Amino acid sequence: MKKLTGQDRSITTKWRPATQAVRGGTARSQWGETSEAIFLTSGYAYDCAGDAAARFAGEQKGMTYSRLQNPTVEMLEERIALIEGAPAARCMATGMAAMTAALLCQLSVGDHIVAAKAAFGSCRWLVDSLLPRFGIETTVVDGRDNDAWKAAIRPNTKLFFFETPANPTLDIVDLEAVCAIAKQAGLLTVVDNAFATPALQRPMEYGADIVAYSATKMMDGQGRVLAGAVCGSEDFINNTLLSFTRNTGPTLSAFNAWVVLKGLETMDMRVKRQSESALQVARFLDGRVPRAIYPALPSHPQHELAVKQMPDGGGTVVAIYLDGGRAQAHGLLDALELVDISNNLGDSRSLMTHPASTTHAGLTAEVRADMGVEEGMLRLSVGLEDPLDLIEDFDRALRAVGL
Ligand SMILES: *Cc1c(COP(=O)(O)O)cnc(C)c1O
Repeated sequence: MKKLTGQDRSITTKWRPATQAVRGGTARSQWGETSEAIFLTSGYAYDCAGDAAARFAGEQKGMTYSRLQNPTVEMLEERIALIEGAPAARCMATGMAAMTAALLCQLSVGDHIVAAKAAFGSCRWLVDSLLPRFGIETTVVDGRDNDAWKAAIRPNTKLFFFETPANPTLDIVDLEAVCAIAKQAGLLTVVDNAFATPALQRPMEYGADIVAYSATKMMDGQGRVLAGAVCGSEDFINNTLLSFTRNTGPTLSAFNAWVVLKGLETMDMRVKRQSESALQVARFLDGRVPRAIYPALPSHPQHELAVKQMPDGGGTVVAIYLDGGRAQAHGLLDALELVDISNNLGDSRSLMTHPASTTHAGLTAEVRADMGVEEGMLRLSVGLEDPLDLIEDFDRALRAVGL
């Protein structure tokens, strides 16, 4: 009996997510390797000149150049699409390449977009600095306020762009309500789902059109490579995004694609385990610092909505606010022994950063204050260590800064 492949959608879409995560997209070469092969090749050879011409004319299936296609990258694209429940996906070199491509591929001079003000620093930079340079108008709103999204729509508005939970404030956007507002106005929604991951939240189930990822975070999950992905309809991926990415070249390397393929095999387990640990650490911090923000804590201002959209866990990131400003925040980072100081997140190691002086330092103080990135704020990415060791590390470090 012929073994099933991970390429046949009539079979793979019926698989449950855990099966898709380890087998989806897999295409075996003639050698029958069990683990996916890394095709480190920039180009492809043809049997005859006529084949080359036919392939360029789109009359013959096959690959032409790794900026355009690569077998390892295509396996990852198919696996991410399956896990997301998306018709199609395209991978990029980084999460920011994915966000930039998802926006620029469909926007033109004279268009307008609405974005949530709480966002990863570079995502805010795209909205505040890059798009306006090309004549694309932008409005930022409080993403938590459904009416604000509606009120910001203009005749030339093309799309909504937001993260939920947002980096680093963990603001939640009501996916169902905001996607419905967009749909009613004929707009597309672009959701950066890096914090929730498809293991905890699949925005398309709530009506999102395009879901983009920094695969650098929980998809790799072990702090090894940068990668990004954009998921959407076949029409959007093939007819809008593809010509942009093929010709501008934010291509993911086959090696990095392979690393993320391996990461996806364990993503569901890691995300759920790290979320459980994050909740445990957040509960401890909630009683020790002036303010701890974590979606699965009842004290989160949007706890009910968070639980509705992410029923299986609050994610792997916790934010805390200290009253002593930058000095106390830096003091706590310096006093931690186990938790590393790092602006990365979604690693198997617990990492903590001071957004105001790192990831969000490129924004003005006014923009930071407006989105809730205060001088006393710290962002913790909880890893796979025993949460009791993390709590002991925090207990000691908090004492060291007088808490
Ligand atoms: C990290 C991150 C990005 C950028 O991804 P890179 O892979 O670092 O380019 C975008 N959005 C969010 C929410 C992120 O956390």
